[in-house]
Amino acid sequence: MRIVLVGPPGAGKGTQAAFLAKNLSIPHISTGDLFRANISQGTALGKQAKSYMDAGNLVPDEVTIGMAKDRLDGPDTEGGFLLDGFPRNVHQAEALDAYLVERGIALDGVLDLEVPEDEVVKRIAGRRTCRNDSAHTFHITYKQPKVEGVCDECGGELYQRDDDSEATVRNRLSVYHRETEPIIDYYKQQDLVATISALGPVAEVTQRAMDALK
Ligand code: ADP
Ligand code: ADP
Ligand code: ADP
Repeated sequence: MRIVLVGPPGAGKGTQAAFLAKNLSIPHISTGDLFRANISQGTALGKQAKSYMDAGNLVPDEVTIGMAKDRLDGPDTEGGFLLDGFPRNVHQAEALDAYLVERGIALDGVLDLEVPEDEVVKRIAGRRTCRNDSAHTFHITYKQPKVEGVCDECGGELYQRDDDSEATVRNRLSVYHRETEPIIDYYKQQDLVATISALGPVAEVTQRAMDALK
């Protein structure tokens, strides 16, 4: 299956993607995680991305689309993939379509996670992320680690992402409404969109997602 996951920052995309990718035996590809890995490794790509991310703005398309295509060209995408955080504007969606056409493949669905804005703010404010791997996320009330400040999965140190500060979150939400939401209409024209509520326990949301993708 080839799936795109859409939703505001903090909706639970990363959390759901981990379970869905496992259930469907496809790789979870998060452009945010790829950027953060590049930043922690000090690569040129990471240096290009950092100031945009810290301000809560989108990293320019020239950088992002190239990185996403390189990842999609990887050896593990033959059986499908779950894209999380890409595409994030209509230009990226068009670039992805062109790439898929070139490969002779197509998306199976776009899963749109819906969450009220006040819940998103609570989720982001309480999010704690592992320094070793930003796909390992916790929450100070909803998903506490066994030992405070320590990642259950790898023992790494948990911290609050720089872009999870209140001021940056506000900008990320407005960027989401302005730039990313239009891709939902873009994909509706291809009849690909399934919208589900991302409220409630993680396992319930995963079940809703699996039902929607059938
Ligand atoms: P969240 O899961 O909270 O929405 P992400 O980890 O997906 O956050 O993204 C963090 C930041 O990385 C974004 O605010 C943006 O600066 C950058 N980023 C991630 N994916 C993209 C993309 N497809 N296009 C441009 N910038 C991106
Ligand atoms: P995104 O990738 O969309 O930015 P995350 O998956 O990182 O979102 O989730 C944001 C925060 O909300 C994390 O701290 C996560 O533990 C928490 N979270 C995710 N799903 C739920 C849920 N269903 N209920 C409560 N908290 C959740
Ligand atoms: P409203 O939009 O009316 O505030 P929400 O559904 O956003 O309603 O949340 C109501 C309350 O339930 C919130 O204060 C939040 O703390 C709690 N809550 C919402 N979703 C979850 C969840 N997945 N896990 C734990 N608590 C939640």
